[in-house]
Amino acid sequence: MSLSQLARTIKESPTLALNEAARLLRERGEPVIHLGIGEPKNKAPIAAILSSAAKLKTGDIKYAPSDGLPSLKKAIIRYTEENYGRLVAPENVIVSTGDKQALYNLLFAITDPQDEIILLAPYWVSYPEMVRMVYGVPVIVTPEDGSFAPQFEEIERAVSSYTKAIVVNSPNNPSGALYPPELIAQLVELCESRDIYLIMDDIYHKLVFDGACAPSAYNYTHKDVDSSHIVLVNGVSKLYGMTGFRIGWAVGPRHLIEVMTAIQAQTTSCPAVPSQAAAEGALTGVQSVVENLRLTIQNNRDVMLAELQGFDGVHVEKPLGTFYCLPDFRAYSQNSVELATFLLNKALVVTVPGAPFGMEGHLRLSYAGSVKDILEGIERMKWALDPNSPNEIYIGDRKLVRDWL
Ligand code: PMP
Repeated sequence: MSLSQLARTIKESPTLALNEAARLLRERGEPVIHLGIGEPKNKAPIAAILSSAAKLKTGDIKYAPSDGLPSLKKAIIRYTEENYGRLVAPENVIVSTGDKQALYNLLFAITDPQDEIILLAPYWVSYPEMVRMVYGVPVIVTPEDGSFAPQFEEIERAVSSYTKAIVVNSPNNPSGALYPPELIAQLVELCESRDIYLIMDDIYHKLVFDGACAPSAYNYTHKDVDSSHIVLVNGVSKLYGMTGFRIGWAVGPRHLIEVMTAIQAQTTSCPAVPSQAAAEGALTGVQSVVENLRLTIQNNRDVMLAELQGFDGVHVEKPLGTFYCLPDFRAYSQNSVELATFLLNKALVVTVPGAPFGMEGHLRLSYAGSVKDILEGIERMKWALDPNSPNEIYIGDRKLVRDWL
């Protein structure tokens, strides 16, 4: 039986593929260090657990409205008002199975075959694949100056009569870069004047460091939400450490949310009700959990930076948000997939190649894990790559001798 042409072109997620390779090594008892993780280590907030447990205890877990439980939508409305300075209506909100599904529904709702969606490199790996899955064309804008944020003029030049949307993810996976507020302001104006959507993937918006802040795109428009070109996507995965609950949402003009709801209704009916209850608990419970996570991650970021600064030949931009950085390893290899495979096999360290994020020669390193893992992981990487580092290392009680440099 054959597969569709489209299905045959969809790539496997490189992060999930590496997770699987690491899992198999761990199963064999190998002491793998995971610097590829895309989720915080903290447990789900107690308010989320209690809210979900209370819902489960009723035993009355049935289909819910396709656009989400009204009580969760209310919590999202409050979150939007507090964090974005906009009071939106329930008709402006859809709850989905993760930010990922909200984004996919959105792309499905706005893209005709051959329409173009502008992505800014480095970009999250799933964007180009999702655009292709709705028969659109990803148009990649790569900063010419080698930085992690394209200049406004570079983005403006990429807009054509086929452009339907620009996707912005700031703070950014994989680089940790935070785009300047002026760029967001210019993009809002560009999207309004060219009648295209500005999709703000804000999944990391509160994980920012050193007093920085990810501005609300609504700050730069006079339009109301229904006539605005801005669509926000967000969720509880990263800020609340709730990746497994799979709850995200979109906020945007009601005509668009209505279509996204129809798409969701025909595909998954509604997000899982116990998970929606958990998300409601997280959003209405004590918010210090987010700040505690942010402080832990900021400290981990400092440890990671200090270690990388002592890594000969490696250049790293200081991340201002997320739990990733994207150091340049071109002094060691031009091929990030080969380099990541080499590091996994020789040093038992999981890293994520930069190539599928649009930044060849770089590796995405996560500092969402423990300080111990960061220290040990970078030490192992230095041992595997840097000829000036000692050529023997202990991994557990096993002595490894480097014989390839
Ligand atoms: N957007 C970005 C930029 C991400 O990094 C991720 C997770 N890696 C997601 C969306 C997916 O979020 P969710 O778990 O809510 O689907």
